[in-house]
Amino acid sequence: MSDCIFCKIANREVPKEFTYEDSDVMVFPDINPVKPIHLLIMPKKHIRDFSELADNSLLDKLRIVIQRMIKEQKLENRGYRLVVNGGGAQIIDHLHIHLLGPLGKAASM
Ligand code: AMP
Ligand code: ZN
Repeated sequence: MSDCIFCKIANREVPKEFTYEDSDVMVFPDINPVKPIHLLIMPKKHIRDFSELADNSLLDKLRIVIQRMIKEQKLENRGYRLVVNGGGAQIIDHLHIHLLGPLGKAASM
Protein backbone atom coordinates (compact mmCIF):
# COMPACT_ATOMS: atom_id res chain seq x y z
CA MET A 1 0.00 0.00 0.00
CA SER A 2 1.46 3.30 -1.10
CA ASP A 3 0.77 5.34 2.04
CA CYS A 4 1.80 2.62 4.53
CA ILE A 5 5.06 3.29 6.39
CA PHE A 6 5.78 -0.41 6.93
CA CYS A 7 5.26 -1.10 3.19
CA LYS A 8 7.67 1.75 2.44
CA ILE A 9 10.20 0.15 4.79
CA ALA A 10 9.62 -3.27 3.12
CA ASN A 11 10.12 -1.69 -0.33
CA ARG A 12 13.25 0.17 0.83
CA GLU A 13 11.65 3.52 0.10
CA VAL A 14 12.34 4.41 3.74
CA PRO A 15 15.73 3.29 5.11
CA LYS A 16 15.68 0.96 8.08
CA GLU A 17 18.23 -1.30 9.70
CA PHE A 18 16.68 -4.74 10.01
CA THR A 19 17.26 -7.05 12.95
CA TYR A 20 16.15 -9.90 10.67
CA GLU A 21 14.97 -10.12 7.09
CA ASP A 22 13.98 -12.79 4.58
CA SER A 23 11.79 -12.73 1.49
CA ASP A 24 8.54 -12.72 3.49
CA VAL A 25 9.26 -11.42 6.98
CA MET A 26 11.12 -8.41 8.42
CA VAL A 27 12.03 -7.39 11.95
CA PHE A 28 13.24 -4.02 13.22
CA PRO A 29 13.28 -2.20 16.55
CA ASP A 30 10.29 -0.09 17.50
CA ILE A 31 11.10 3.61 17.09
CA ASN A 32 9.50 4.28 20.48
CA PRO A 33 10.58 1.35 22.69
CA VAL A 34 8.62 0.71 25.88
CA LYS A 35 10.96 -2.09 27.07
CA PRO A 36 14.74 -2.56 26.69
CA ILE A 37 13.96 -5.00 23.85
CA HIS A 38 11.05 -3.92 21.67
CA LEU A 39 11.01 -5.47 18.22
CA LEU A 40 8.35 -5.36 15.51
CA ILE A 41 7.98 -8.61 13.56
CA MET A 42 5.84 -8.50 10.46
CA PRO A 43 5.11 -9.81 6.98
CA LYS A 44 6.51 -7.68 4.15
CA LYS A 45 3.17 -8.06 2.41
CA HIS A 46 0.52 -5.55 3.42
CA ILE A 47 -2.08 -7.26 5.60
CA ARG A 48 -4.31 -4.84 7.51
CA ASP A 49 -4.47 -6.74 10.78
CA PHE A 50 -4.50 -10.21 12.30
CA SER A 51 -8.10 -10.91 11.29
CA GLU A 52 -7.08 -10.54 7.63
CA LEU A 53 -4.23 -13.05 7.89
CA ALA A 54 -5.41 -16.10 5.94
CA ASP A 55 -2.14 -17.68 4.83
CA ASN A 56 -1.12 -20.56 7.10
CA SER A 57 2.36 -20.77 5.67
CA LEU A 58 2.93 -17.07 6.39
CA LEU A 59 1.62 -17.55 9.94
CA ASP A 60 4.10 -20.39 10.37
CA LYS A 61 6.94 -18.26 8.99
CA LEU A 62 6.07 -15.53 11.47
CA ARG A 63 6.03 -18.09 14.30
CA ILE A 64 9.47 -19.35 13.35
CA VAL A 65 10.92 -15.81 13.21
CA ILE A 66 9.26 -14.86 16.53
CA GLN A 67 10.77 -17.93 18.21
CA ARG A 68 14.15 -17.15 16.65
CA MET A 69 14.02 -13.54 17.92
CA ILE A 70 13.09 -14.72 21.44
CA LYS A 71 16.16 -16.96 21.37
CA GLU A 72 18.53 -14.46 19.77
CA GLN A 73 17.51 -11.75 22.21
CA LYS A 74 18.00 -14.25 25.06
CA LEU A 75 14.47 -13.74 26.29
CA GLU A 76 13.50 -17.42 26.78
CA ASN A 77 14.09 -17.19 30.53
CA ARG A 78 13.98 -13.43 31.10
CA GLY A 79 10.30 -12.74 30.48
CA TYR A 80 8.74 -11.59 27.24
CA ARG A 81 5.38 -10.46 25.90
CA LEU A 82 3.93 -10.70 22.40
CA VAL A 83 1.35 -8.06 21.48
CA VAL A 84 -0.80 -7.81 18.37
CA ASN A 85 -3.09 -4.80 18.15
CA GLY A 86 -5.96 -5.02 15.67
CA GLY A 87 -9.49 -4.07 14.81
CA GLY A 88 -8.71 -0.38 15.16
CA ALA A 89 -6.58 -0.65 18.33
CA GLN A 90 -3.49 -0.48 16.12
CA ILE A 91 -1.81 2.78 15.09
CA ILE A 92 -0.37 1.32 11.90
CA ASP A 93 -2.68 -0.73 9.67
CA HIS A 94 -0.02 -3.23 8.61
CA LEU A 95 0.02 -6.43 10.65
CA HIS A 96 2.92 -6.51 13.11
CA ILE A 97 3.74 -8.35 16.30
CA HIS A 98 5.45 -6.53 19.15
CA LEU A 99 8.08 -8.56 21.04
CA LEU A 100 8.75 -6.93 24.41
CA GLY A 101 11.14 -7.87 27.19
CA PRO A 102 12.71 -8.50 29.57
CA LEU A 103 9.77 -8.27 31.95
CA GLY A 104 8.03 -9.93 34.83
CA LYS A 105 9.62 -11.76 37.75
CA ALA A 106 12.19 -13.44 35.48
CA ALA A 107 13.56 -10.06 34.34
CA SER A 108 15.21 -9.33 37.68
CA MET A 109 16.75 -12.76 38.13
P1 AMP B 1 0.53 -0.34 16.92
O1 AMP B 1 0.07 -0.12 15.48
O2 AMP B 1 -0.32 0.40 17.90
O3 AMP B 1 0.64 -1.80 17.27
O4 AMP B 1 1.97 0.25 17.07
C1 AMP B 1 2.76 0.73 16.02
C2 AMP B 1 4.16 0.81 16.52
O5 AMP B 1 5.00 1.15 15.45
C3 AMP B 1 4.38 1.87 17.61
O6 AMP B 1 4.92 1.24 18.78
C4 AMP B 1 5.39 2.85 16.98
O7 AMP B 1 6.34 3.33 17.90
C5 AMP B 1 6.02 1.98 15.91
N1 AMP B 1 6.55 2.71 14.74
C6 AMP B 1 5.92 3.63 14.00
N2 AMP B 1 6.68 4.04 12.96
C7 AMP B 1 7.84 3.35 13.07
C8 AMP B 1 9.04 3.33 12.30
N3 AMP B 1 9.21 4.10 11.22
N4 AMP B 1 10.04 2.51 12.70
C9 AMP B 1 9.89 1.74 13.80
N5 AMP B 1 8.77 1.69 14.54
C10 AMP B 1 7.76 2.49 14.20
ZN1 ZN C 1 1.72 -1.92 4.61
